[in-house]
Amino acid sequence: MLRCHIYWANNSAFAHLAAPRGRRHTAARYDAAKQSGQARAICDGRVHNQFGEGRGLAPCCKDMSILLGCIADDFTGATDLANNLVRGGMRTVQTIGVPSSAMADEVDAVVVALKSRTIAAADAVAQSLAALEWLRAQGCRQFYFKYCSTFDSTALGNIGPVTEALMQALGTDFTIACPAFPENKRTVFKGYLFAGDVLLNESGMQNHPLTPMTDANLVRVLQAQSKGKVGLIDYETVARGHAAIAGRIAVLKAEGVRIAVVDAINNDDLMRMGKAFAGMPLLTAGSGVAIGLPQNFAAAGLLRESASASALPSPAGHEAIVSGSCSVATNAQVADFMRGGGAAYWLDPLKLAAGEPEVARALAWAQAVLAAGKGPLLVYSTAESHAVKAVQAALGVADAGAMVEQALAAIARGLVDAGVSRMIVAGGETSGAVVQALGVRALRIGSQIDPGVPWTATVGGKPMLLALKSGNFGTVDFFSEAFAQLH
Ligand code: ADP
Repeated sequence: MLRCHIYWANNSAFAHLAAPRGRRHTAARYDAAKQSGQARAICDGRVHNQFGEGRGLAPCCKDMSILLGCIADDFTGATDLANNLVRGGMRTVQTIGVPSSAMADEVDAVVVALKSRTIAAADAVAQSLAALEWLRAQGCRQFYFKYCSTFDSTALGNIGPVTEALMQALGTDFTIACPAFPENKRTVFKGYLFAGDVLLNESGMQNHPLTPMTDANLVRVLQAQSKGKVGLIDYETVARGHAAIAGRIAVLKAEGVRIAVVDAINNDDLMRMGKAFAGMPLLTAGSGVAIGLPQNFAAAGLLRESASASALPSPAGHEAIVSGSCSVATNAQVADFMRGGGAAYWLDPLKLAAGEPEVARALAWAQAVLAAGKGPLLVYSTAESHAVKAVQAALGVADAGAMVEQALAAIARGLVDAGVSRMIVAGGETSGAVVQALGVRALRIGSQIDPGVPWTATVGGKPMLLALKSGNFGTVDFFSEAFAQLH
């Protein structure tokens, strides 16, 4: 049984209600509260807004169950989706792989980050089903399979096979597919995916080394990877609103269609779609469709009103940046940080390769800087492309990369031991190595620093704040701006 409270408008009185998990409040008490005016029912922080809507009953929702369970086919894509959900008011945690225990935090959405985009389809299916099983065990009400906004896949998958496996596991005969993310210039029109002003197959994606996208027609692309029939909900239908979309879904279902590609060219389309998909067990999409979903949970009174979805703990401690990205943007950010007088240590890959104790040296330097109160500090291997090429020629591309990643990860761990609790990591692969070295299993997603890069807080154990920035993200003053946001 769960304890629920009904508050009168002036908060002066309340009634305790007890209801079995997921059941409805007793009508008599609910009606009594309703008659008092603008009473609110609160189940441990979640506010029911259905008062005055005629029926006088609300679901008892304080059952720690998660509203939306998401499976993302890569790590940065997972963060991108989580970021959109937080912007919509949903408290969101991203896990790294399928967790081995239940979710302890009370959150509205969980995104399980897999690395399944380019692995064999059978493995992607197995991993996705394992993620689904865990999410179902957490009580999720709706499920979301997240892939890239450029629909990265091959004729063998993995979007089609994973979608159909999830549908079968959930016992549902219909879902949608929509990689549109208009804020990022990904739009779908008449089933054709545009990246910016050009069709997908003219955007450079046709030359992708692992998932070359040579056809922009998503109905054709998805049909090639799917056993079931693929159809289209086109722009004219989407523009007419959620009722028209629902009508089109009924027609498609009657025609035997199991997956419908959906057109969307702006955020209004995503909001209309979101409304139409409120009751759909499974959605498959890029991160854009998530923009339209929080409204459904809010309308059902299931989103917590009080704390902001992006609120994170604020652990005391030192601030540091670890940078292994050699992208143009990161090079500029490192230079900007040093121009501003920031303390910085250059980690030389050739010294590392020669067996010099560079990790210990960097940490000794960092401890002295922190003791002198001169943080935030930066440890970086970031270099211009000609220097990177020289290192790669000497050590080999893969070996140089792995060696630098491991050294930076060891330094990150040492920095945490030295009292750093707020850390920016620059570089996608570097972030992966650091997160692994720190033993991080899940991240609570906070506010956005720059598009696609939020502050996050580690879940479980002593909390620390992490900003994981993939190469080309962020403005030139990203490092100082990110820390400034915390002060
Ligand atoms: P990005 O997100 O910019 O691609 P990544 O961290 O994913 O950054 O990749 C950068 C790769 O370059 C990593 O494998 C890293 O170890 C390697 N690297 C970093 N600095 C150097 C360097 N000075 N010379 C050679 N390789 C480097």
